[in-house]
Amino acid sequence: MNTIEGMNQTPTTNFGLKDTTEVKCESCDNTIFQNGIIFRKVSKLMAGTDKDALVPINIPYCTKCGETLQELLPSELKSDNSIETSNIVV
Ligand SMILES: [Zn+2]
Repeated sequence: MNTIEGMNQTPTTNFGLKDTTEVKCESCDNTIFQNGIIFRKVSKLMAGTDKDALVPINIPYCTKCGETLQELLPSELKSDNSIETSNIVV
């Protein structure tokens, strides 16, 4: 986990739209999302600034029911932590 070697794999960009899958809202199956921003506050002690800092995070949300797209939430912000996989390593 603490080594950076091996992280330089080239991302695969060789795919077409037909190779992609639809992302649906988990609540209402809507497929249209808008970009919302949530802000996280960082204590000025941590940020080393004069005032508390705000960190903007882009979060897509469903245009129908307003549900955020959990798939793209940083794992720390997910309401459901059962998908955590990176903590348990051999
Ligand atoms: Zn929805």
